Amino acid sequence: MFLIGCEKPSSKLSEWKADSAHVKVLCTNAIIHDLVTRVGGERIFSLSLIDPLIDPHSYEMRKGDEEKFLSAQVIFFNGLGLEHSPSLLKHLLSHPSACCLGDFITIKDPSLILEDKGQVDPHIWLDTLLWSYTIDPIVEKLSTFDPEGKDYYEQKGAETKASLLTLHHLMLETFHRIPSQKKHLVSSHDAFNYFTRRYLVENPLQDWRDYFCAPEGLAPDGQLSFYDLKRVIAYIQKHHVKVVFSETNVSQDSLRKIVDICQSEAYDVKIYPSHLLSDTLGDHNSYESMMKHNLSVLVKAWSET
Ligand SMILES: [Zn+2]
Repeated sequence: MFLIGCEKPSSKLSEWKADSAHVKVLCTNAIIHDLVTRVGGERIFSLSLIDPLIDPHSYEMRKGDEEKFLSAQVIFFNGLGLEHSPSLLKHLLSHPSACCLGDFITIKDPSLILEDKGQVDPHIWLDTLLWSYTIDPIVEKLSTFDPEGKDYYEQKGAETKASLLTLHHLMLETFHRIPSQKKHLVSSHDAFNYFTRRYLVENPLQDWRDYFCAPEGLAPDGQLSFYDLKRVIAYIQKHHVKVVFSETNVSQDSLRKIVDICQSEAYDVKIYPSHLLSDTLGDHNSYESMMKHNLSVLVKAWSET
């Protein structure tokens, strides 16, 4: 395998298609792309199918995407229902070298995977420790396709794992310094279940489900019912929540309605001015930067209220 030591932006589609010196990798979204790029380093050329600013739940195949599937030598996707549009799913499941990262966590330990009302929760990346478990399958898949790079991928995988573990411990320690009664998280959609289970609850006797509530379900493209609004309002008032969080990839309409109803009932709650990043990197250039953004927004908001 020929090595070139340069950064390769995911937008360079024509360069990616013409490249024959690197393993040509297609990742469904920018969060996966960031992890795979760190492990694959200079031996791969990775492209993200879904723009970092677009909600990955509702992504449908677009013009030109089929070509990307035909050119890709290896594909990484999240699975667990994240890429649920029939057109995209069909291409992922029929590609001979597609690797579903969520499946490896399910195989490792099914109890790590969360379900809500019978639906599997795909948001594994918001638990950094869980996300680090997907590094081994990435190393294995790239090594199978490019055996000469096995040692390289293993070394980069170990470095990436160490870096994610440092981030994981930073979040554990920082959130555990915040009193439990302040850590009742309300955001736009059900993205933060894994995050809450890992970082917001320190006592195993506490039910983590008491620490997170959202009006919209696992995919923010579903219909919002009056019952969902009432459920979140009751949660906010029961736990004395003073601030709720919008997400970059979800409309703020449901949170605005909730805040309006609360205020009409003389209960003071506000939408925090900074968004959380749940399903996209937003304008951050790495997963670690995205997670540190969430950490900093939550810590600042909860320390102000
Ligand atoms: Zn989501």
